[in-house]
This record gives sequence, C-alpha cells and structure tokens, in this order.
Amino acid sequence: MPTNPRSSPPKPPVAVTRSRATGKFDLSEHDPRGTFGWDKEVAKAQLVEVMSEVAELQTRLFAEQRTALLVVIQAIDAGGKDGTIREVFASINPAGVDVNAFGVPSEAELSHDYLWRIHARTPSRGTIGVFNRSHYEDVLVVRVKQFAPEDVWRKRYRHIREFERMLGDEGTRVVKLFLNLSKDEQKARLQDRVDDPTERWKFRKGDLDDRALWDDYQAAFTDALRETSTAEAPWYVVPADRKWVRNLLVAEILRHHLRLIDPHYPEPEEGVEGIVVR
Ligand code: AMP
Ligand code: MG
Repeated sequence: MPTNPRSSPPKPPVAVTRSRATGKFDLSEHDPRGTFGWDKEVAKAQLVEVMSEVAELQTRLFAEQRTALLVVIQAIDAGGKDGTIREVFASINPAGVDVNAFGVPSEAELSHDYLWRIHARTPSRGTIGVFNRSHYEDVLVVRVKQFAPEDVWRKRYRHIREFERMLGDEGTRVVKLFLNLSKDEQKARLQDRVDDPTERWKFRKGDLDDRALWDDYQAAFTDALRETSTAEAPWYVVPADRKWVRNLLVAEILRHHLRLIDPHYPEPEEGVEGIVVR
C-alpha cells in the first residue's frame, strides 16, 4: 500500500521570505517594481511549473476534506486583484476554488458587525477560498473615508487577529496578499481603463478621489499589515507593477502554504485494493 511519509516542514523560497511582512514592517522598504532578480521569460515558464504542483496539492486538499486555505487579496484600485485571480488561479480545478468579492456593504450587511458577511463566505474544508477585497476594507476605506471614527476602526485590528486565529485553529489557513502598486503605475493603468473602450466599464470617477487620497491609503495599509501580520495568518507584500513578477510570487506563496498544509489522499475503504471490476 502506498504510504504518505510526512517530511520536515518545507523551507519557503527566498522571494516568499523576502515578501513576508513582519512586526517592523515598513511599506516604503518594499519596491513595487521589484523583480527578485527574476528573468521574465524564465518566470513565465516557472509559473506553469509551480502551478502544476499547486494543482496536485489542491487535488489532495480536496480529497482530504480536512483543511481549507483562504487567500485574502487587497490592493488599491487597478492594483491587479482581478488579474491575479484570472491569471494565477486559471490553471487549477475551479471546482475546488471559491472566489468572493466584497464591495460596498448592503443594508443587511451594515445592520450586522463587519465580520458577519466575511465569515459566511470563508471556504469549506477541502477548498481554496479567494477574497477579492475582504474585512480589511473595514480598516482601509472605512478609515480613510472616515465612515467610522477611530475608536471604532482601531479595535478592529484586534478583532481581525483573533478572528483569523480562530479560523486557523479550526482548520482554515489564512494567507494575505497585498499587491503593492506604485503611484505611477496606477496612473498608467487608470488611464488605460479610460482610453480602452473594453476596459472603460471598470473605471469609476470615484477612483480619482481615492487616488487623491494615495498617502492616506498607504498609511492605512501600513498599519493594517503591521497590526495583523501574524505567524498563523501572515501578510505578503507582492511587488505588483510587473504582472509576471506578481503572478509567480503569488504562485510560490500558494505552493508554500499548501506544502505546509501537506494534504494527503485519504485511505481507501477497507478491502478495496485488489478488487477486480467486472
Ligand atoms: P470594486 O472592487 O472595484 O468592485 O469596488 C468595490 C468597492 O467597494 C470599493 O470602492 C471598496 O472600497 C468598496 N468597499 C468594499 N468593502 C467596503 C466596506 N466594508 N465599506 C465601504 N466600502 C467598501
Ligand atoms: Mg474599482
């Protein structure tokens, strides 16, 4: 019978280590144009390779039905959240992926605490959940636009740490990605959205109001990452100006955490081995 030897925990690749936010986190030390010394063509080939291992690990995760992986993606407008989901997750089995986007809360959502709608959409065991925006909006846009006073949003860092810790304890590994875009690159991407008729639907005039608040958003991201990057639910700062760097790093982070989960195919039913199907 095939055995499933559990090996010692895998070491993260260098880029994964370097992009991890720690308690002393300083956003200005992370270059949105960083490449980790990668070559574009090599990186594209490597993405395919890394994702084929991710696909295999995902199959095991799905078969095992024991743990879930929740990938939270946050970024400013045009930061590449949709592109990351489309380009990185494209090669894995959609049956095991649960993508949720969080927009302006509805009236029903606003009549509950801010984690209510979030918890309802965390992934079930065996699946990979992807959050396109998340509960972090409640310490980002809510703070910057002053939708709630400081004594309300400041307590949320603690709620979020404790919520994510509970998820981890109960079988959902949480991994958080901040797509770090430069102000110049955001300008170029927003302009492209305006100029390209097939992209124009993504542009809202309000995006310019948010762009004018760039420094406030950077400060809010810095605090959010500093306050909530924990051992059990780490943040990664993903250089996002170059899509090919972003994609490969996200794939490597996914692979690293799936390797840590180390899912195994379940044991077959007793007596199945050797059965001849007639
Ligand atoms: P998009 O991701 O472009 O579809 O935009 C979604 C919008 O919803 C963004 O402008 C977010 O800032 C906003 N949003 C998401 N969550 C919240 C929240 N909790 N409170 C207020 N606005 C939010
Ligand atoms: Mg938008």
